[in-house]
Amino acid sequence: MAKKRKPTLCSYCGEVTSDWNREHVIPAQLYPLSKSKSKVQRLVVPSCRRCNSSWQDDEVHFRNMMTFIASNPVSKEVWATAMRHLGNQPDGLRRSLEVLQRIEPVEKDGTTDYIIDTEGDEKVMRVVRKVIRGLCHHHRLFCALPDQRVHAKLTEYPFPAGMYDDLTGHHRERDILEYWFELDQFEEAHSVWTLVFFGSVAFLGYVSATEEFSPAWPHMRKGGGGR
Ligand SMILES: [Zn+2]
Repeated sequence: MAKKRKPTLCSYCGEVTSDWNREHVIPAQLYPLSKSKSKVQRLVVPSCRRCNSSWQDDEVHFRNMMTFIASNPVSKEVWATAMRHLGNQPDGLRRSLEVLQRIEPVEKDGTTDYIIDTEGDEKVMRVVRKVIRGLCHHHRLFCALPDQRVHAKLTEYPFPAGMYDDLTGHHRERDILEYWFELDQFEEAHSVWTLVFFGSVAFLGYVSATEEFSPAWPHMRKGGGGR
């Protein structure tokens, strides 16, 4: 429940309201129990109740998708906990089907790899854009960046060696989210972002300088981590 507080600007829609909460920039659901005593502080930004509640359903799906295709110990722990709870929830079957509809098994070198269809998965992409918007607020690049100015796409990982040598890497637990950003890459761009969830699922993000501009993405194959 949101508490009445001193009026504050929502980091996402820009509304000034006294009905706000601290929103986790990186969904809290991505953090496993074993990280509860970690010294790495979790990022929170002010968010109005409407924005805050609009991601709840998306973030559950996002966690299920990321932890299904990622393969590090943290993602495995989050997945195991989520699956234990899913069986006891009334919408557990819907949630499971949502994941299964968006993934495709691919045989590679005798093992099963999974690719995800993020182009058709608006729930996943909304959360990716929301993370970038929250990071923009945290890094003081914007007070409130509109969703329309953020574009994101799944990309392949690992990246070629040396690709990010000149950029400062940031993380909130490297094995949960590591990210890089660079300002003013091109005329139409405000910034370019790379996010890697659970050390294996990578997204490119692009913040346009205006709302009208939409980037022409280079052709990229659907990708995803192996299990
Ligand atoms: Zn808002």
